[in-house]
Amino acid sequence: MLDMFSLQGKVAVVTGASRGLGKCAAKALAAAGAHVALIARDPDRLDETRAEVEADGGRASVLAFDLADETSVRSGVAKLAGDLGRIDICANIAGIIGWQPLLESDETEFDRIMHTNLRATFVMSQECAAVMRAGGRGGRIITTSSVLGPLGRSKLHAYGASKSAIIGLTRSLAAELGRDNITVNCIAPGYFMTEINAQLQAREGYVEAIEGVTPMERWGRPEEISGAVVFLASNASSFVNGHVLNVDGGLSSSFKFQLAA
Ligand code: NAP
Repeated sequence: MLDMFSLQGKVAVVTGASRGLGKCAAKALAAAGAHVALIARDPDRLDETRAEVEADGGRASVLAFDLADETSVRSGVAKLAGDLGRIDICANIAGIIGWQPLLESDETEFDRIMHTNLRATFVMSQECAAVMRAGGRGGRIITTSSVLGPLGRSKLHAYGASKSAIIGLTRSLAAELGRDNITVNCIAPGYFMTEINAQLQAREGYVEAIEGVTPMERWGRPEEISGAVVFLASNASSFVNGHVLNVDGGLSSSFKFQLAA
């Protein structure tokens, strides 16, 4: 039974691997047997991830580049495919957030968020799908939305648009690539204690407010993304395609209302 979760002999490309959920995902994929190619901008933190993977007995490569730069993405994937000989799993986990009132927003910030979150997922998936199709062994593409993907949130228009669009992108790619045995699925995290929301965590009452609306009454621990990622990357999910997997303690499926004490 556990064999179906094994990633022995596979190559996984993981974006956002320098910290947070992407780092946990990379470590989990490596622990399941994959050689992981670690992508983000910060080479030092990527080296830290590689050292942790190797200390656990895994294998990793590092490639630092900016996902918002399409040329770097295309040449980066080509280099990894050349060096490692194959790509079986493409885990698009990197992402950024930005809060701006609509009337104070500018297109530069909107484009930065859309390019990093949405466009990079599209370009990474396109490049990796080409390698997977040429290899003829199928593959797994994982995208990352958010509990906010299908919802709206004040001052979060660019992030919300990108995360909503990632769900649409996932479903369309799943519809197109399924015949190549390439599945495309999305993980929608709830609130996790990572750097992306460090500012929010620092706001008085915010941590408790999220606990209050989450049925499990706590934030996610970054390593709790691992099971979902390995599941979607492995044979255990062989007939799961176009799915959005919420990893959110029940936040997206409930209306939890608490009166102040
Ligand atoms: P995080 O700790 O801030 O990590 C973000 C990762 O993305 C880092 O590895 C960062 O590396 C990388 N990254 C950002 N911009 C990049 C760029 N232009 N090029 C290459 N890499 C880039 O955030 P996280 O919590 O792990 O978030 C991971 C994903 O989960 C994101 O897509 C986020 O939207 C989603 N998510 C998170 C939560 C949560 O509560 N944590 C909730 C819902 C959804 P460098 O800075 O080194 O480039």
